[in-house]
Amino acid sequence: MNILLLGSGGREHAMAWKIAQSPKLTTLFIAPGNPGTANVGTNLPIAADNFPAIKTAVLENNINIVVVGPEDPLVKGVVDFFAADKELKDIPVIGPDKIGAQLEGSKDFSKQFMFRHNIPTAGYLSVTCENIAEGIEFLKNHEAPYVLKADGLAAGKGVLILNDLDETISELKSMLDGKFGAASKTVVIEEFLSGIECSVFVITDGKNYKILPEAKDYKRIGEGDKGLNTGGMGAVSPVPFADKDFMRKVEERIIKPTVDGLNSEGIVYKGFIFFGLIKVNGEPYTIEYNARMGDPETEVVMLRIKSDFVDLLEGVANGNLNEKTIEIDERSAVTVMLVAGGYPEEYDKGDEIIGLTEVSESIVFQAGTALKNGKLVTNGGRVMAISSYGSSKAEALAVSFSNAQKIQYKGKYFRSDIGFDL
Ligand code: ATP
Repeated sequence: MNILLLGSGGREHAMAWKIAQSPKLTTLFIAPGNPGTANVGTNLPIAADNFPAIKTAVLENNINIVVVGPEDPLVKGVVDFFAADKELKDIPVIGPDKIGAQLEGSKDFSKQFMFRHNIPTAGYLSVTCENIAEGIEFLKNHEAPYVLKADGLAAGKGVLILNDLDETISELKSMLDGKFGAASKTVVIEEFLSGIECSVFVITDGKNYKILPEAKDYKRIGEGDKGLNTGGMGAVSPVPFADKDFMRKVEERIIKPTVDGLNSEGIVYKGFIFFGLIKVNGEPYTIEYNARMGDPETEVVMLRIKSDFVDLLEGVANGNLNEKTIEIDERSAVTVMLVAGGYPEEYDKGDEIIGLTEVSESIVFQAGTALKNGKLVTNGGRVMAISSYGSSKAEALAVSFSNAQKIQYKGKYFRSDIGFDL
């Protein structure tokens, strides 16, 4: 079987690493990929949202399944593009169509969906310029902290959590005025939930689903989870507080109603669903959906899937995921992200990376890297994810931290407290 994977981050390197282990695989292509994915497959110099070029590559390389890593091609309708093309319509794409991707692409859509299907989530009000007075009233009737969310995709920056009412009202106005462009023409105001967060992932063929290992990621740049938000500084799996009882509630109250809800609404959803959850007094609530796997969570989730991942992808493609089994590795998996100095603010690119050959025991998933004159250099804020197994989380972390020291480039930074709060 020939597979084309779209994307270029650490998430895609981790997926490519797992796909490449399958005896069912003939050739793996990654578009555009990165120097890490080139070690496990063949990179194609095509942007993940260049649909006409993807079509040519799919036909030229006899691709049997396309797997979509990031949200962008999904929200732009890559699945719909394939469905509407007579040469592509029979080639399965692992990812939801444009409407399904709205679970991530529009917070107003996802809140309405959760309420329609009685899926536990924070109370909310969606506000536009038309009903701003109602929005201000909603805020006045609630206590701080106040949660404001741009409805559309805003590169992870569209959520504000504020303590001062006047400041919140003024932020609400500036969001509606276009602070995040079209993404904040609608703002979702939410009740604040206080608890501990984790992420749960499923793969679904639209009717059946398999639950993948859960994970916790670390979003802030600074130790103690302080400072600016990032794309993610590390992740661990399993998550001790996501115990059997909690996961049973998650499946009954959140996962099943979501998959059944999509199905009953006629939304074609064959792909991954990422549930951003918060545990409040032992009970799970949904903070957000994403229409794809998380990054850096995938860099631990793939380590813990023992089964043949391609077999699961085939189950999604053929609509018989119920006939597949998923076996999970009991060991702990962790990942520690090495980032560029200055990230998530301004940072340099093009600095030579050395020491990769010194790494032992960890699996290094590359993200923001490039090859320049045959040398590996930094090419993004999040440079690479050092993933490791251990019989305990502490053991896995010790391996990742020791290897994180061996890799060198100018300005290298990583958080040395990943997983310490668990
Ligand atoms: P991501 O970058 O994780 O995709 P996002 O921009 O889609 O984030 P959310 O996940 O909805 O936005 O919110 C970001 C973070 O803000 C959450 O991980 C959580 O920590 C916090 N948050 C969001 N909604 C609430 C809420 N109702 N109560 C408390 N905290 C919240």
